[in-house]
Amino acid sequence: MLTIAEKILFLALTFGALYFAGTGFRQVFKTIRRGKPEDRFDRLPERVLHALWVVLTQQSVFKRRPLVSLLHALVFYGFVYYFLVNVVDGVEGFFPFRARGDVWNPFNLIADLLTASVLIGMVGLALRRFVVRPRDFSFAPNVPLHEDVRGGIRRDSTIVSVFIFIHVGSRLLSKSAQLALEGTDPYQPVGSAFAAVFAGVNPSAATVFEHIFWWGALGSIMVFLPYFPRSKHIHILLAPINLALKKKNPGALAPMDFEKEESFGAAKLEEFSWPRLMDAYSCIMCNRCQDVCPAYATGKALSPAAILINERFELNRIRPEFSAGKESPRPLLNFALNDEATWACTTCNACIEVCPVGNEPMLHIIDVRRERVLSAAEFPNNLKKAFGGMEQVGNPWAMAPESRLDWSKTLPFPVLTVAQNPNPNVLYWVGCAAAFDPRAQKIARSMAEILNAAGVNWAVLGLKEKCTGDAARRAGNEYLFSQLAQENADTLNGLKPDLIVTTCPHCLHTLKNEYPQFGGNYAVKHHTEFIDELVKAGKLNLRPETDGAATYHDPCYLGRHNEVFDAPRQVIESAGVKLAEPERNRRNSFCCGAGGAQFWKGEEPGRERVAANRYRELKATGAETVATGCPFCMRMFTEEAGQEESGAPAILDVAEIVANNLRR
Ligand code: SF4
Ligand code: SF4
Repeated sequence: MLTIAEKILFLALTFGALYFAGTGFRQVFKTIRRGKPEDRFDRLPERVLHALWVVLTQQSVFKRRPLVSLLHALVFYGFVYYFLVNVVDGVEGFFPFRARGDVWNPFNLIADLLTASVLIGMVGLALRRFVVRPRDFSFAPNVPLHEDVRGGIRRDSTIVSVFIFIHVGSRLLSKSAQLALEGTDPYQPVGSAFAAVFAGVNPSAATVFEHIFWWGALGSIMVFLPYFPRSKHIHILLAPINLALKKKNPGALAPMDFEKEESFGAAKLEEFSWPRLMDAYSCIMCNRCQDVCPAYATGKALSPAAILINERFELNRIRPEFSAGKESPRPLLNFALNDEATWACTTCNACIEVCPVGNEPMLHIIDVRRERVLSAAEFPNNLKKAFGGMEQVGNPWAMAPESRLDWSKTLPFPVLTVAQNPNPNVLYWVGCAAAFDPRAQKIARSMAEILNAAGVNWAVLGLKEKCTGDAARRAGNEYLFSQLAQENADTLNGLKPDLIVTTCPHCLHTLKNEYPQFGGNYAVKHHTEFIDELVKAGKLNLRPETDGAATYHDPCYLGRHNEVFDAPRQVIESAGVKLAEPERNRRNSFCCGAGGAQFWKGEEPGRERVAANRYRELKATGAETVATGCPFCMRMFTEEAGQEESGAPAILDVAEIVANNLRR
């Protein structure tokens, strides 16, 4: 038990620590509150239970880097239990009480084993960070970094690691000294083994050691507490909250109220909504999002991790003034990211998918793009043409709207519009790519053949169909998107279609997930899902004896954004084609480089095209065919294959594979 003087000292230290930590936490809370409102509080019990499940199973951590995740889990479970351990140790220090005996055996056993698990985990993590120093912790030289980041990350990691070693290591040694004095305990095998350290020490010296290490274990918390709110350790508190309040479908972007918004998008920190500011504080600086980012992987100036880390270091720097309501001193483009990074994002959602703490880096970039387009009117030149086409003639190709049905002219049967067939069971939403891009038109023709072969009662909107506005929205032109969305929703609401089927994942995504914001609620399916149903219902007669293999590329807007992974694969296999999976597949698929309006504006400077990187991987499977489910992916890979003199795989949409295998 502590002496009276020690107790007074500990209480004084605790009050001081709580005061300074409390000030820090209050400032963090007020900083996050500076963000614009955003409703993330629906389905609260479900959200909380889900977050608890994710945190306790560590499933968001184990998505990648299995060994590191295991080391993290060893530390995590120990720390959860240490909330209780610290209380019991505190009571032992203040009162004549020992947590020994039958009742305490289970507690002691778990505490003892988890102490060892934290130390083993920390040794592994520290070795990785400070000795092995893998590339994961570095940033490419062209990625803009906040002035405080390089030194700051290392300093923060050092402080947090030293704290954990002192805190947990001291607890082990304090218990060991106690066990040396009072006799070893089979329920504390690790502590008992370490008791040998004090074997030759006389009892009064062992008592001193027990006191010193008790202070190391609990006093270190009090010393560390004031630093807690500015360290990455704050993720212990914020990550579970962040995970609970995460958007269900982050790719379904939030609409803007043009009447009420004071600013469009975000030029400065205070113009973000509060979840973005919480992202910055929740970030554990693991760079997993950077690992999976197609822009970073191909040498662009964009690292989603760097954006959040930059924001966090800026917030740490300005926190007292910012939390008190002062304007932030500089625009995001001066410290968080640059122009190149802003426009390099393909909105592939990989960063959001992989983040262990539920951060949404892509949404930070969209906010910056919105400001660039809507307020500053500064955006890449190539986008002007696409925006103009969407605005004036309803398609980014800027093709004459009357030619929207030209794709159907070479078919041996007529394609009916809703004017000719007003009550179809299926409304085939062709999309601008399949309507105007000569290569993608073959997808539309294949789909028409499949629908006819299956005897489906279907029709198209024809000249009434306009661009869904996907590229405008991803590029930050929310105003243009809202106009197109409202127009299309009004047209569709007049028709009340039973089911919309589309061959474009971008159309699928906007129609299904974003048009409800404009009063358009429809059943929407990707064509691979619908074809899969037709095959399963026995409505398509396919030749199953095809030779050769296909590799399937998961389009970001079908896979990660809309979780359609199995249907395209099942359709390919039902057409008798063997599947050869690329290394990165399903949720871990790699972007083709076209999304996020990249297709229209062209890529930012980098080492290589995103499509080149992905095409290489697809080709390495040795498959004769690269199967796609998106007209934009198809265009990107067709361009890559076109650069090869020989040996390039065929690039086919799943609908084309099926149409080729129809028994006629
Ligand atoms: S959405 Fe994709 S391209 Fe954009 S930052 Fe995230 S990982 Fe990178
Ligand atoms: S945003 Fe998420 S994945 Fe990226 S560095 Fe931060 S914690 Fe890691």
